[in-house]
Amino acid sequence: MSLIVQKFGGTSVANAERVFNVARIITETHQAGNGVVAVVSAQGDTTDDLIEKAKEINPAASKREMDVLLSTGEQISMALVAMAIQKMGFPVVSLTGQQAGMRTDNTYGNARINRIDTERIQSELGKGKIVIIAGFQGLNRYDDITTLGRGGSDTTAVAFAAALNADLCQIYTDVDGVYTADPRIVKDAHKLDEISYDEMLELASLGAQVLHNRSVEMAKRYNVDLEVLSSFKKNQGTKVKEVVHVEKMLIRGVARDNDVARISIIGLPDQPGTAFRIFSLLAKSRINVDIILQSIGRDGTKDVSFTVGKGCLDEALTILNENLPGLGGRAITHDSNISKVSIVGAGMATNAGVAATMFEALYEAGINIQMISTSEIKVSVLIDLDEAERAVKVVHNAFHFGE
Ligand code: ADP
Ligand code: ASP
Ligand code: MG
Repeated sequence: MSLIVQKFGGTSVANAERVFNVARIITETHQAGNGVVAVVSAQGDTTDDLIEKAKEINPAASKREMDVLLSTGEQISMALVAMAIQKMGFPVVSLTGQQAGMRTDNTYGNARINRIDTERIQSELGKGKIVIIAGFQGLNRYDDITTLGRGGSDTTAVAFAAALNADLCQIYTDVDGVYTADPRIVKDAHKLDEISYDEMLELASLGAQVLHNRSVEMAKRYNVDLEVLSSFKKNQGTKVKEVVHVEKMLIRGVARDNDVARISIIGLPDQPGTAFRIFSLLAKSRINVDIILQSIGRDGTKDVSFTVGKGCLDEALTILNENLPGLGGRAITHDSNISKVSIVGAGMATNAGVAATMFEALYEAGINIQMISTSEIKVSVLIDLDEAERAVKVVHNAFHFGE
């Protein structure tokens, strides 16, 4: 008997009809002779709605209480899916993160998984039951509810697949696989039959929300067979694995991330230790910095620019403004009207001119690049937020996918 972990996202369980559709996929897998553990997300926009509800009461609510609230979305879904499966006449049990043995660290709102105690699930599977688990949530060492960060149900699914040594982890969503760009932006984006863990990790980290980046990290570490497919169409999906066929494709995809803000510190002393002081201040407050650009020193001063997530902007500005005299800078500017557009592909490490193709496409579209960052398998540019969708389209077009 194989064990299959299936995950269903918010759109896939958004209403009664879709809950029954999901129940049908789960029970068909069960009837085919497999053990099934299904992880579910909150219905539709429930998580966003809960965040709005919290703001009405207390915009500064503690992260602990936010997690108590947000975890309820998944609890609704798990019960409804289990009820649908009961109605169809199959043995089923739903479990919260806590009941399923998901233990995390104490970072409310963005917890990391420490371990999974699988006894309860194993015993339910042993009784022949289908197990439905609430995604996105766990329990810390104080027995408080934690959540894994937006999109975290994917990570729940992969974590259970790893802990249970499942044969396959299927992520059912509202698109039928991983595409060369968000198919909602680029109409002729091309579905990939397979993609490597490393490339998928870059795409997910650079804004392709089809998979939570930590789910890919975990799938790679524990060698979980991962598949992205549609809960609405019976098409073949995309397999995410260690090694993939080498295709002619130079790059695997284009991604966009609007969750970025730029900060610039102007007129810093051009001397050793300046960068160290800035970034250690931010690191102390656990603020992640992404693209960094430092100008060449002139007349004894230089400027340093970098990006942070939009959610960290205010905190970063407060810290830097407090410390500006000590840093010796003249002024701080910032811009949150920006977007990061990236191309990803293992092929670019050995092919010259990939970055130039991207820059040419942007130039021809009259889109100005504010900052650039590269690695072996990606090139990212920072541009105006208003031009982000157009940038994704023209860059995607320049690489002639699927021809
Ligand atoms: P779920 O609720 O099932 O977790 P998400 O909304 O988190 O679904 O992720 C699916 C969405 O990811 C798709 O609807 C699509 O718009 C978006 N997306 C972004 N980049 C890509 C990509 N490269 N391939 C497929 N989908 C993508
Ligand atoms: N419901 C959570 C969210 O919207 C987790 C998830 O859907 O993966 O972020
Ligand atoms: Mg998601």
